Amino acid sequence: AKELGKAQAVAFNPNMRGTTVTPLDMETDLRRAIERGELTLRFQPIISLANGRIQGFEALARWTHSKRGEVPPSDFIPLAEETGMIVEIGQWVLRTACERTVRWRDQFPKAEPMEISVNLSSRQFHQYDLVRMVTNSLEGTGMDPSLLKLEITESALMENAHLSAQMLNDLKSLKIQVCVDDFGTGYSSLSYLHTFPIDTLKIDKSFVQDMGRNRHNLEIVRTICLLAQNLRLDVIAEGVETPEQLAQLRAIGCGFAQGYLFSPPLDVDGVERLLGENRSW
Ligand code: C2E
Ligand code: CA
Ligand code: CA
Ligand code: CA
Repeated sequence: AKELGKAQAVAFNPNMRGTTVTPLDMETDLRRAIERGELTLRFQPIISLANGRIQGFEALARWTHSKRGEVPPSDFIPLAEETGMIVEIGQWVLRTACERTVRWRDQFPKAEPMEISVNLSSRQFHQYDLVRMVTNSLEGTGMDPSLLKLEITESALMENAHLSAQMLNDLKSLKIQVCVDDFGTGYSSLSYLHTFPIDTLKIDKSFVQDMGRNRHNLEIVRTICLLAQNLRLDVIAEGVETPEQLAQLRAIGCGFAQGYLFSPPLDVDGVERLLGENRSW
């Protein structure tokens, strides 16, 4: 009963804030995280397999808590979603990612095209003023819209396919790109996929990581790549950790890849070091 009480307090009772219940402390802390500068971004390179070069980066949020240390996004993004703080956090993430990218494009003109991918959670995706928020970030930073890619999970898109199609159309009118994240895990209807104005499918890492051991998963990855080709979409394989996986993806004709084999998510210094090395794979 005590556990249930906690859950209810978090979910339904904003007046309970300030009691000793841990999730609420965490909520209060998260509210202050932005102003205290405790939120940061990591950037993980996405590699074009056509030329082995960096196509761009995915921005991934981190929360460095004064007492808890680094809180992973799997812990605080759901809390931020539940409490609505994701709107403010998302705004910060998008703006900061765009600011960085504009600066890096200046600093590293040879590192073309330098796209930036930003995650949108389900609640952000259904936020009524999302288009205005994205517009503000683009205009406020001077970011080229065609280099911004918003990642939305397949399951968030399929929650309400009709509304999603409308929202995607509104977003696409800004000339940005849209990527379906965690593709293969969310039961998309292929007919919907065809009607959504999307640019990229990102194959969920669960399929990629098991390709070597599980013939079935290799076939799933191959099929998604074929599907993407037929629909004229780009395809990214995430969670690539081994040279064998990379070789298989190249053989299948997968266009882009991301994972620890190339690089973990990096801080700003790490990115600048990597871009300075002018590496390819
Ligand atoms: P995601 O969008 O699917 O991001 C990929 C996750 O896989 C990241 O975890 C990344 O660090 C991790 N990863 C990258 N390469 C590899 C690999 O080779 N092997 C394995 N095992 N993992 C790899 P991370 O950074 O902990 O983020 C977890 C999730 O949190 C993300 O999943 C995304 O859904 C969410 N998230 C992160 N940042 C944001 C954000 O700014 N806004 C929103 N709404 N969600 C975010
Ligand atoms: Ca993602
Ligand atoms: Ca993903
Ligand atoms: Ca995932």
